Amino acid sequence: MVKNIKETEGKNFCIKRSLGEERVLSFKDHVCVGCGLCEATCPVEAISLDEVAPIERKYVDTYFSGHEKIAQNYALFTNDNEIKAKLDICEDKCVLCGLCSGVCPAGALELAIDGVSIKENEAYPHLVTSAEIDEDKCLFCKKCEAACPRESITIDRKLPNRADLVTGEIEVDEEECIYCGACAELCPAEAIVVDKATGEESIVIDKEKCVYCLVCKKACPVDAIKAVCRSCSYGEYDLDPAKAAITGNAIIDSETCIKCGWCEGVCPADAATVKQAFKGTLEIDEEKCGTCGACIDVCPCNVLSFPKSTGPGDRGTHLVKEEDYCIHCGACAKVCPNEALTVTRTDVDYTPTSSKSWIAAFEALKN
Ligand code: SF4
Repeated sequence: MVKNIKETEGKNFCIKRSLGEERVLSFKDHVCVGCGLCEATCPVEAISLDEVAPIERKYVDTYFSGHEKIAQNYALFTNDNEIKAKLDICEDKCVLCGLCSGVCPAGALELAIDGVSIKENEAYPHLVTSAEIDEDKCLFCKKCEAACPRESITIDRKLPNRADLVTGEIEVDEEECIYCGACAELCPAEAIVVDKATGEESIVIDKEKCVYCLVCKKACPVDAIKAVCRSCSYGEYDLDPAKAAITGNAIIDSETCIKCGWCEGVCPADAATVKQAFKGTLEIDEEKCGTCGACIDVCPCNVLSFPKSTGPGDRGTHLVKEEDYCIHCGACAKVCPNEALTVTRTDVDYTPTSSKSWIAAFEALKN
């Protein structure tokens, strides 16, 4: 009889078996979101996910002390430690079939056969998800990097050297401008200010700071910004933003990216596209919600929050959701002590397969 061998390294582990082929199921704790889809799908009940007790929290007594942090979401509570489920797989029961790897929305479990992940093997189906950033469209403004709840995006922006640039001027057509502030917000050199001091809005461009990267021109939704080149022999002409001197790289860490879509939602240049595997709904029962915040802690996608307090009398204890970014993993519902959250998966997108057991496993994720 061939036995599986379990090797642990900190909170990560892998289960191995060699017989003709080598199968290795690896688990990465820092990627696991504790949703329990693996546990629900395992055909031999080899997986156990510990119930996590929500942390006891108390309102901060000094709310009216004027301490600014208290107006922020997490600071409403005395304890904002991350809570996390503990996942274990019994090596004696596990048959290394890979179903848990196929259904894991976070990529925390992965089965490899002879060193090749089953996600790269057409014979094994898997959830269809993707996240991409089109570097041709990207302004390297770093908004996605700041919004990503898993810190999975790195924007490596290279600002041009002023000495190497064609010179010119950035001009704003104040008739066209709607003063949305996109140019000022995205300017990497902080050279643009929307001036409201005089009572009338105006756009002020600091020519000393401007690096002529044309991010402002690309970002302007009404085409009110003109970049005029004055350093070439052709005389003045409107510079094409495609020739902008700003460059960079946009890198998504596929191991930790959970395909929530925040990058797509905040990108001003439509450069990010995300595909989620599940369609569904997330419902909050306000009557049942005890505002313990456990769901906020476990949600890998920063979907749930208590809105910021607006001042005395408003403690921001009303749970709200940004459902566009919910991947419908169900981790929040699993930890809620009051069953105030209901996550329903109505559709699951997976690669084609003729295997009845795999189809049954994916279909069982719908509820
Ligand atoms: S809110 Fe959505 S993404 Fe967040 S834990 Fe719940 S189901 Fe998962």
